Amino acid sequence: MNLKPRFLLLTALLFVAAAGAAWYASRQLAENIVAQWALRYAEKQVLYDKSRLLQPIVREIALSRQFASSEEIRAWARHPDDPALARQAFAEMENYRKNFTDRSYFIALRGSGRYYHNNAQDEFAGRQYRYTLSPDRPEDRWFYDIIRQHHDLHLNVNPDVNLGVTKLRIDVLVRDGDAILGVTGTGLDLTTFIHAVVDQSQPGMTSLFVDHNGAIQAHRDQRLIDFASISKTVKEHKTLDLVFDRQEDRDAIHAAMQELERVESPVISRFVRIKGRRFLAGVAYLPEIDWYEISLLDLDVVLPLNSFTGILLVYGLTLLAALALFNFVLNRRVLRPLLNLDQAMQAIELGKPAVTLSPGDGDGEGEIARLIEHFQRMARAQQETRQSLEGKVRERTEALEQLAMTDALTGLLNRRGMSERIAVEISRSRREHTPIGLLWLDIDWFKEINDRHGHAKGDEALKAVAELLHAMLRPYDSLSRWGGDEYLVLTPASDADDLHALGERIRLAMADTCRLKGIDATPLALTISVGGYLAAAEDDMETLLQRADQALYDAKASGRNCYRAYGGAT
Ligand code: GH3
Ligand code: MG
Repeated sequence: MNLKPRFLLLTALLFVAAAGAAWYASRQLAENIVAQWALRYAEKQVLYDKSRLLQPIVREIALSRQFASSEEIRAWARHPDDPALARQAFAEMENYRKNFTDRSYFIALRGSGRYYHNNAQDEFAGRQYRYTLSPDRPEDRWFYDIIRQHHDLHLNVNPDVNLGVTKLRIDVLVRDGDAILGVTGTGLDLTTFIHAVVDQSQPGMTSLFVDHNGAIQAHRDQRLIDFASISKTVKEHKTLDLVFDRQEDRDAIHAAMQELERVESPVISRFVRIKGRRFLAGVAYLPEIDWYEISLLDLDVVLPLNSFTGILLVYGLTLLAALALFNFVLNRRVLRPLLNLDQAMQAIELGKPAVTLSPGDGDGEGEIARLIEHFQRMARAQQETRQSLEGKVRERTEALEQLAMTDALTGLLNRRGMSERIAVEISRSRREHTPIGLLWLDIDWFKEINDRHGHAKGDEALKAVAELLHAMLRPYDSLSRWGGDEYLVLTPASDADDLHALGERIRLAMADTCRLKGIDATPLALTISVGGYLAAAEDDMETLLQRADQALYDAKASGRNCYRAYGGAT
């Protein structure tokens, strides 16, 4: 895989890993913040609710206690049949009735089971005795239960389904020292504070009250309220167990309630789960009424975690931008220069001209720039070496070609070289309409020279003829040793006479000037026979050679040391 996709993949992996870690860390952080904040909020809320609830109840309880300990009432309770005491007691009761919020009271005497009551409408003035309680009647059980339990104060929540109100009944024992004379008390309409505290409309917040057994006394959902708690067995109670799904949460809340009785702390908080949602439960004890308030804070509603998503989004986008920038810089400073370098190397490999790279293609002054610089130097050196080698090869090839077209003995063109030259001149002659002529020369009786003076002398003679011919001819004439003792001269000749003149001049010069010494130091006379042919426009090389050769043959046949033109002319 190339570097670029690899880096892209690595970047993507880095992004995912960093975003994952950031998501996890920010979630943890958010949860911690939510938990700490919620803890304080729940504590404040539960204390606030507690004070709101207690204010009216505490007053009624205090008044009820006063009522129960009133001297007039206790005196009468000791002697209920004494009319004077009864008058005083009922007058006292009337005073209290007017002070009670509910404007009603009751008193039941232990000895006789008589139940006295007057209500807000003063309906039973003068006939407060209503009926006599009986331990056998279920609806009267509360009275006997309270006396049996010996609790000085008992609070009981009673619904009035018909009126749609919930009443708190305050029962206080009327004591005479250790003896119990009866039970008295009043009622308090809880509806208002249930609406104020329990039915509060703050989103995500639920408050409920339980007694020390965990039986629910006040809850927004009336079905959960454990009405008439006093007269039920433990199993019959509607307890906290109805609120919490998990046993561990129920245990935790019960443990918190027990702990509150021992320690000074006003509130204990626990994280719990209700129907799969996370709640913070703040538990406070209300010793005046022996109840507990439990405030349940729905964390997902009060401070939803997704409100932290914005931070995560900003972080994610920043990270993405940073990685994109990193990739951009990497691509520009490293990958692209490397790609250019790679292409330049491939060009060298394929023998193409080297691509010029500038250090700016890299990172300016870093490793990549140095790499490019080294490459440039190497490429230049390689190119110079190649050019020099190519030059040498060209020279050698030319030399070889020269050698292949040159006669080793005389240094003149050989048959191959002359053939090429004839071909070139024929095409030029056709193109430019310039006439050419060919002279075919052959040394007379050359075999005899070899035979008499030796082969070396023969060679010497061949070279001497070549030199003489070379000296006589013009730069635009072509001269070659065609083979053995034969030479060809290709010359631009305007007509047959011109050619004849040149042939004759050569022949004569040969006869006159070429004087060699034989092995016996005697002069060695050299003559040549010459055949000439003035080419026609349509002649090809073969025709040209054949006709010049024919002319030479004629010269030889005519006795040698003479010039003959093709076609018989002298
Ligand atoms: P003619 O007048 O008919 O030409 O008689 P000639 O003796 O010259 O006969 P021809 O031209 O046929 O003979 C050519 C001789 O040249 C034959 C051969 O021995 C000789 N010869 C060919 N090449 C060389 C060479 O390179 N060196 C020497 N010394 N002799 C050569
Ligand atoms: Mg010859």
